[in-house]
Amino acid sequence: MSQETATAYGDVHNYVDGEWVAPDGDAGQDVVNPATGEAIAHVGFSSTGDVDEAVRTGQKAFESWSDRAVEERVQPLFRFKQLLEEHQDELAELLVEEHGKTFGEAKGELRRGIENVEAACGAPTLLRGGHVQHAAPGIDETGVRQPLGVFAAITPFNFPGMIPLWFLPYAVATGNAFVLKPSEQDPLVPQRMVELIEEAGFPDGVVQLVNGGVDTVNAILEHDGIEGVSFVGSTPVARTIYEKAAANGKRVQAQGGAKNHVIVTESADLDFAAEKAVGSSFACSGERCLANDNVVVEESVYEEFLDLVVEEAERQVVGYGLDDDTTIGPLITPDHERTVRNYVETGVQEGAELVVDGRDITVEGYEDGNFLGPCVFRDVTADMTIAREEIFGPVINLMSASDFDEALETMNESDFGNAASLFTGSGKEAQRFRHDAEAGNLAVNAGTAAPMAFFHFGGEKDSFFGDLHAQAEDVVRFYTDETVYIERWP
Ligand code: NAD
Repeated sequence: MSQETATAYGDVHNYVDGEWVAPDGDAGQDVVNPATGEAIAHVGFSSTGDVDEAVRTGQKAFESWSDRAVEERVQPLFRFKQLLEEHQDELAELLVEEHGKTFGEAKGELRRGIENVEAACGAPTLLRGGHVQHAAPGIDETGVRQPLGVFAAITPFNFPGMIPLWFLPYAVATGNAFVLKPSEQDPLVPQRMVELIEEAGFPDGVVQLVNGGVDTVNAILEHDGIEGVSFVGSTPVARTIYEKAAANGKRVQAQGGAKNHVIVTESADLDFAAEKAVGSSFACSGERCLANDNVVVEESVYEEFLDLVVEEAERQVVGYGLDDDTTIGPLITPDHERTVRNYVETGVQEGAELVVDGRDITVEGYEDGNFLGPCVFRDVTADMTIAREEIFGPVINLMSASDFDEALETMNESDFGNAASLFTGSGKEAQRFRHDAEAGNLAVNAGTAAPMAFFHFGGEKDSFFGDLHAQAEDVVRFYTDETVYIERWP
């Protein structure tokens, strides 16, 4: 056990075999409040031995957990849902402290996570396979969904409360054991959620937590006892995880980064579209895989729409996430703030016009925070770096297109395919968008294409590596194998 450090939350622990233990690796890092720059906790990184212990414990727990009735397996999930709701405010406050987003955003994030626990409580229905009577003469055939063993999820910093719940509840409801490796940047909310898991009454070893960084992830990818890996994070890492996990014979689903587009055509309600487009770009300080940074506007309404976007951007309040007025919190680290500022500088150098410049900003009382105000670029073209690469900050790019077809073409040229939105009053455009837009999550007249838990969370092109996605039936299929059972009584 390492020594508790003198921070508000002390040392972050692993949860293995029903015990809270310190990670055993050599490395570690501070968990820092991005608004104040103060260390609030320390997280040690798990060694290969820590991962091995969690996997072996998970394998042992799997033997009896997978044999329990599914109705019995979902009971602790019902209790977990209740506990998450009872502790939602406390979790949201912790989320703001370690991540920086606003309290409202944190509560919203947790709500989307809870929805997944609710959806996974439907496992008795989700697990029902197919049956064909008289599949062949005298033969009936049935598909039987069976759990496989120990699964792991490796999750990113931007939704530490929600993203683990895209996987965890479904993995255990289907009868598997589950190991979570959360982001090392904000591991306090995942730790608190696993405390609630413990309180909900899962048997030891069914849900385990191992903290860590790259080496811990490699230990997971190389462990023979792990059947499959779910990953959410940046595209280069997603690609590596996909390749390594597959090379080690594992199932893998790897969700990567994004560069999402909004198309606004002249028939759209422009006030509504501007409010939603800006909301989508700046929510969670732009640190969202569903942020719509590139807004492609039909030429005829470009200037009018730009004015509305500028008005919306100027209404934003940058500050500490726990202050009521704040709409944009700090970025996660000083390094990431530098990266986003460099993108803004690159945009200027490449010829886009920065009509709202959020760079010169100080938040009173939070001078050491990683703050950047909202930035609005106009005259962005598809070949510019800021139009092609994920910025992950409060930056919105206005682009123009002669008509809907050209806007769609511009959008489809992107290497990414996570999400896209269309604002229109035309059913014909909406239908064409639904047919031809190359992204996995699409929305018409909605700023953020975030699917509810009972639909899978899509993603295409460089935004996703694999075939079965997070959430709903897709993830249930990921966590189970379908055995085909053939029966004949001659
Ligand atoms: P990241 O890729 O840096 O880290 C994600 C996870 O991978 C963390 O747990 C981290 O410890 C681990 N990791 C980091 N580098 C690694 C390496 N070289 N080898 C093995 N493991 C490594 O991502 P992030 O900065 O935490 O999150 C932001 C990114 O996640 C953005 O690109 C965002 O678009 C993406 N994201 C995607 C989705 C989606 O559904 N597609 C959802 C949320 C976030």
